[in-house]
Amino acid sequence: MFNVSDLKLDGRALIDGKRVQGAAVFSKASPVDGRVLCEVTRGGEVEIDLAVTAARAAFEDARWRGLPPAQRKRVLVQFSDLLLAHADELALTETLDMGKPVRYARSVDVNSAANCIRWYGEAVDKVYDEIAPTGKSSLALITREPVGVVGVIVPWNYPMIMAAWKIAPALAAGNSIVLKPSEKSPLTALRLAELALEAGIPPGVFNVVPGFGQEAGEPLALHMDVDCIAFTGSTKVGKRIHVMAGLSNLKRAWTELGGKSPNIVFADCPDLDRAVEAAVGSVFFNQGESCNAPSRLLVEASIKDKFLEKALALVPRYAPANPLDPATIMGALVDKTQMDTVLGYIAAGQSEGAKLIAGGAQVMGDTGGFYVEPTIFDGVTNRMRIAQEEIFGPVLSVLSFTDAAEAVRMANDSIYGLQAAVWTSDINKAHGVARALKAGTVHVNQYDEDDITVPFGGVKQSGVGRDKSLHAFDKYTELKTTWIRIDSPL
Ligand code: NAD
Repeated sequence: MFNVSDLKLDGRALIDGKRVQGAAVFSKASPVDGRVLCEVTRGGEVEIDLAVTAARAAFEDARWRGLPPAQRKRVLVQFSDLLLAHADELALTETLDMGKPVRYARSVDVNSAANCIRWYGEAVDKVYDEIAPTGKSSLALITREPVGVVGVIVPWNYPMIMAAWKIAPALAAGNSIVLKPSEKSPLTALRLAELALEAGIPPGVFNVVPGFGQEAGEPLALHMDVDCIAFTGSTKVGKRIHVMAGLSNLKRAWTELGGKSPNIVFADCPDLDRAVEAAVGSVFFNQGESCNAPSRLLVEASIKDKFLEKALALVPRYAPANPLDPATIMGALVDKTQMDTVLGYIAAGQSEGAKLIAGGAQVMGDTGGFYVEPTIFDGVTNRMRIAQEEIFGPVLSVLSFTDAAEAVRMANDSIYGLQAAVWTSDINKAHGVARALKAGTVHVNQYDEDDITVPFGGVKQSGVGRDKSLHAFDKYTELKTTWIRIDSPL
């Protein structure tokens, strides 16, 4: 068994296959107890430029994209295997870095990231190009080519998974990468790049430069030699990413952004206990720091009291505890700033007239970490800030409705459109509501089903593009048409 004392944390950038200190560093503290974990490279324009130059050189000499597909597949599968071989180390690092319970870091984050890398690796030698049905005297080939140098910027809530969703298809398609992890959780991304090297991904193909958004993220998004920027994070920064892409070299920009997902429960819900478990479990999972958390619960008025009674009975299960304890299911928020944001929203909910029926306070302050109780507000109206704005913490806002039209109107009355759910025994209502909901994903009678084979992403201000599935290749490839004349006597 791997222990915290076995960890050798290294926060230096990884550029062109080598660890690089960079001109400046910052101290990375753990949200678990406030202790400093290690020094991390505070990347800026210089480090980003070095990494982009290395990625460009690797792309141009085709040291990765030029390998036979079967060989790239073997390397990516080996990369995935190495994640699993280092699962305990990666899980502990993730927990110390960003506060999630180690049981989920191990069972969800490491496994999903490894599965994602394996899945795209397996796809490398199974995806074919096309020939268009054109005239007799010509042939039109439609081929997919890698875009080139891909800049990847990810948030801190699922650091390994968010990185894997982008680097796996981008690498599988033959691109070179410069990844900037969040300054709040940079450590596992650096280990991933080391494991990629060990698996056989050539130096320069996968570079990681930690740093802050304006100092390292902006130079990457603005860089004239980056061909594509793939971003996951807030809607506020996502909008800037599109502007920076347009102002620089019109690089392709893909953004996976925020959410305020509605979870609609009708009185004819087939299994109320399951609906309650899903409503509470999904919003408190990962301390509520999930883009797709069902943070707006819309319950039909006639069952609201019964629903809330059952929900309140489950709340004690989610009491925060030490994330390093394998029994813990609710850990620490990522830092004090995030905790203060969450507590600020709880105060806003109270001052706007919503009724606090569970939680609402910081706990375990004596640990030096950042823990907030699972919190539920009843009597929320859709105009309140806690119904409209993404809180990104363990806070559930409960609203009620009287018919399907009202439920859909409230659900769609949001700038976001990432995910939604509808619970009903009526198949017509399920399909009708699912069709009317403006969301990238709609669940029926469940919430958290997930698989790498299906696309993930949002509509409206939840972003542009889709991660996961074979559709993700659209982000990291360009279509080329080649016309070939055929002067055949036949
Ligand atoms: P954030 O936007 O503050 O930061 C995300 C990343 O962007 C970080 O690496 C940060 O350093 C960088 N960044 C910040 N300012 C930048 C700038 N000016 N230029 C370039 N890069 C910059 O978001 P966050 O707080 O790290 O993450 C939480 C957000 O991420 C939430 O809104 C959440 O919904 C969203 N998210 C979305 C998905 C999805 O798939 N849709 C998944 C996870 C998280």
